[in-house]
Amino acid sequence: MEQSASRAEHDEPTGPSIADDPQLANAWRALLRSARPEIPPLFARVAERTLPDMADHFYGGMMSDPRASRFLSVEKVRDRLKPSMQNWLREVLTATAGDVDSLVARQRVVGDVHARIGIPVDLVSRGARELKNRLYHRIEELADDPGLALSASVLVSHSVDLALEIMTQAYVSARERSNAIDASYRLFSLIQNISTERERQRALLLDWENALLYAIAGRTSTSADDCGLRRSEFGLWFTHKALPSFGHTDETREIVSLMDGIDAKLREMLPACDAPAVRQELLGDVRTSVARIRSMMGLIFENIGDLEAGRDALTSLLNRRFLPTVLRREIEHCRRSGNGFAVLLLDLDHFKPINDRHGHEAGDRALHHLATVLTQATRGSDYLFRYGGEEFVAVLGSVNQQQALTIAENLRQRVATSPAMLTDGTTLPLTVSIGVAMHDGHPDYERLLARADAAMYQAKKRGRDCVVLAVDDLPDPPGA
Ligand code: GH3
Ligand code: MG
Ligand code: MG
Repeated sequence: MEQSASRAEHDEPTGPSIADDPQLANAWRALLRSARPEIPPLFARVAERTLPDMADHFYGGMMSDPRASRFLSVEKVRDRLKPSMQNWLREVLTATAGDVDSLVARQRVVGDVHARIGIPVDLVSRGARELKNRLYHRIEELADDPGLALSASVLVSHSVDLALEIMTQAYVSARERSNAIDASYRLFSLIQNISTERERQRALLLDWENALLYAIAGRTSTSADDCGLRRSEFGLWFTHKALPSFGHTDETREIVSLMDGIDAKLREMLPACDAPAVRQELLGDVRTSVARIRSMMGLIFENIGDLEAGRDALTSLLNRRFLPTVLRREIEHCRRSGNGFAVLLLDLDHFKPINDRHGHEAGDRALHHLATVLTQATRGSDYLFRYGGEEFVAVLGSVNQQQALTIAENLRQRVATSPAMLTDGTTLPLTVSIGVAMHDGHPDYERLLARADAAMYQAKKRGRDCVVLAVDDLPDPPGA
């Protein structure tokens, strides 16, 4: 249980969160007040006997789990963990009701730290379970009578559970904040210049390969540490920029294992490279693996390129997979600022007959045209998504219900008065049915979309080419 004074992860105001819940502090205070008077001296003896070898015992149990050893094998973490765990246990065991506020604050700091370093929360629970087990034994050894042992064990169990619950609350809030940042980072990274990055990294990989070839062919004295791929400029870019932006996918995972494979080969074979057979085998292996990395990189960039920076290829509107990110952020913004926002779900009326009569290509033109009309008729701060085949979503930030309805009605009119033009000069009248849902404070964006969908379905039922506002008792659309 790593402890350190920590600065808040970022400065955004987050409003009240579960971490501000006073219930646990009150429960802890009541618990300590109810303790029998013989318990504090008993706990002092328990602490004295348990603290010295506590951290070692803790490591022994945890190191067998590879997830824990990832953190605990770092020497610096171990060095700090030992005294901070001892302090933590001493504080928990010797606390009085008057210490609870600072005790609670400490547990929150620990939870924040755990979240920041990404310790799985179940490992912390396991540590606490093992610790409690140890404490029960000590109490049994040291208590004068079984009745006291029982009361003391119950008290220690509740105290550790309370500490853990507060840590977990802080942990969850911190993870939620950082997930939100991740999402916005990804969205941001999508609008960076992808094609320049692609060329640059392709060239860096080639440079690394050429440098290695020259070094081996020219027998310049070189060590595997100097010329490893993971430490090359390409490898560093991959670790620090590509993985955080692209995430852990099949392709990125394969590239990591290919790079590690190459580096292991270099360590094994470079020292014996004077032998032509070894040299040939090494170069052949490296070439094959680098070719595979190149093709994986191609795939990764292609997937992004397909989206044209997150946009739908036909309409150039945002791809629907970013809708959750945008809606989560709008909901969070709304919670902080109190400004409302609205979701509009638009569906082209009688679109199937257009395809049937004029062909799919004409249908595509109509969709493209509609997207242009929508883009021209919305504000720069609004988000437009292609939601499905002929369905679109507009997210209107900072609007009240009246403004949202006015914008929706304006969109409906604009579409109805701007027919699409086909290549043969035929004009194609289009209309849309629009469902409008105001964010009602519910944190689940899926519910907001479902309400907009139900309203859109009502608009269809009312004869199409109209706007309907979602109210809570709207019947669900078919199949919902
Ligand atoms: P309604 O007024 O009830 O919405 O009727 P509709 O005909 O628009 O609705 P329906 O959902 O029955 O048909 C939608 C059609 O949209 C079916 C599908 O062929 C067409 N569609 C979906 N995606 C595309 C696309 O990308 N291009 C083209 N041309 N057509 C598409
Ligand atoms: Mg439809
Ligand atoms: Mg339709």
